[in-house]
Amino acid sequence: MSDKAADGKGVPVRLDKVSFSYGEALFAFDVEFAAGEITAILGPSGSGKSTLLNLVAGFETPGSGRVLIGGADISGEPPAVRPVSMVFQENNLFAHLSVEQNVGLGRSPSLRLADADHADIAEALARTGLAGKEKRLPRELSGGERQRVALARVLVRDRPVLLLDEPFASLGPALRDDMLDLVSGLHAERGMTVLFVTHQPQDARRVGQKVVFLDNGAVAATGTTDDFFAGAGPEAFRRYIGAGAGDALSRDIARKRT
Ligand code: ADP
Ligand code: MG
Repeated sequence: MSDKAADGKGVPVRLDKVSFSYGEALFAFDVEFAAGEITAILGPSGSGKSTLLNLVAGFETPGSGRVLIGGADISGEPPAVRPVSMVFQENNLFAHLSVEQNVGLGRSPSLRLADADHADIAEALARTGLAGKEKRLPRELSGGERQRVALARVLVRDRPVLLLDEPFASLGPALRDDMLDLVSGLHAERGMTVLFVTHQPQDARRVGQKVVFLDNGAVAATGTTDDFFAGAGPEAFRRYIGAGAGDALSRDIARKRT
């Protein structure tokens, strides 16, 4: 898998004056995500975080404007051919397929797999701590293990853009930190461009290099994670994380810097 790492290098993702609507709910996104970085996408519930990812993945199509990945306009392309993988909060796996098969789908939707594919699948399972669980069904796994399977599939799919839509929201804090570390580690190895939606500001602080803050269907602010959490974020962001949460975060940041 290591010789594929170069192919997996991140590429920029741009929403160029994209407009979209669900009935009365209007969205206007004009933003670029830098190649090879992890950007945390934060914002209140209903602000359009999932909608933004769905426009990049191709599950939704802009009313106007363009979606560019690696400089290419992919606005009209179906999801399957876009150079992206996506992990959702849940329901990432097929219940009737084993762990190994669920991961194999990242390589071949018909599960026609060559020896080299099986080797890559085994390596991805080892990398995500799932060795020995190949034959299990999703229901025989914990919630954290199921999300590891989804990440293993991302590894064998090996696309330059990774979209994460609150993938660890249903996990407890300790397990969530383990999973964030796993994402950081995979990112360090592969260098893909990661758009990471989370409603936990501390997740952004832990893995994000940049922050994109959404409010009411549009990008309200962008910046580095350090600036955002040092208080340079917009008023709406400070309201969002709350004064108390901000203090706790500042302490957390101070600890990490010592
Ligand atoms: P977030 O992920 O930030 O919580 P979403 O992008 O899911 O927000 O939703 C933004 C808005 O769009 C919400 O008001 C939501 O009700 C509406 N919406 C989302 N998905 C659909 C849909 N499939 N059909 C109609 N409205 C939707
Ligand atoms: Mg959402």
